[in-house]
This record gives sequence, structure tokens and C-alpha cells, in this order.
Amino acid sequence: MNDCIFCKIAEGAIPCKKIYEDDEMLAFHDVAPQAPVHFLLIPKKHIPSLMDCADGDSALLGRLMTRAHRLAAENGLLERGGRFVINCGQDGNQTVPHLHIHVLGGRPLGWPPG
Ligand code: 5GP
Ligand code: ZN
Repeated sequence: MNDCIFCKIAEGAIPCKKIYEDDEMLAFHDVAPQAPVHFLLIPKKHIPSLMDCADGDSALLGRLMTRAHRLAAENGLLERGGRFVINCGQDGNQTVPHLHIHVLGGRPLGWPPG
């Protein structure tokens, strides 16, 4: 049995505030937003992290990145920008082991990360 929370969201078994969906990806608002705009874009395919991607995932990754910036623009980030984040593994503080791109903006974002 797949206990992955983002797979369950992708299947519709757990509700989310969806902002985009197609055959291979889903975007939804983060349940604990860290900025006025904070949503997640995930592939429906279960890939644990970016570190687990293979050459065969290149086209999917490209489409995810393209969709991420389109959705960022549609959600008000075109003029002032924002941040696209992929946390990976233990040191990256990844808490959900299903690849996801955070899209954040709507306020100035600090750097470097803590
Ligand atoms: P990570 O720390 O793995 O990079 O990010 C996981 C993100 O998923 C966190 O920002 C967290 O708030 C969000 N998250 C965790 N569980 C849920 C959920 O059930 N629904 C939604 N919408 N977001 C979630
Ligand atoms: Zn998953």
C-alpha cells in the first residue's frame, strides 16, 4: 500500500485547494503557507525526490518547471518574481518524500536559507 500523502492528494483521496491539474501533474496551495503565495507543484508519478530522478524523467521535469513559472505568473508573481524551491532529503529538510516544487512569493524572501 502506498502511504504517500501527495500520491493520495493526486488521487483525490485527500482533499486539497487545487490550482492546476493535467494528466501528469497537480498544483495546490500549501496547507501551511510561508508567504502570501505558496503552492506546490507535484508530478502524479511517485518520485521520492529530485535525487531519485532518472534520465527518463527529463521531459517531465522540464514540463514541471515550465508549468511552475506559468502558474507563478498567473498567481501574481510575474512582476516582482518569487522563489522556486525543491527540498531534498535530510539536510534539505524535505518532509514529504514525493517530489514537489514550492512556488513562493508575494513578499521579499530572505536569503540565505537558515
Ligand atoms: P517539504 O518540507 O517536504 O519541502 O514540503 C512539504 C510541504 O507540504 C510543506 O510546506 C507542508 O506544509 C506541505 N504539506 C504537508 N502535508 C500537506 C497536506 O496534506 N496538504 C497540503 N496542501 N500541503 C501539505
Ligand atoms: Zn507519492
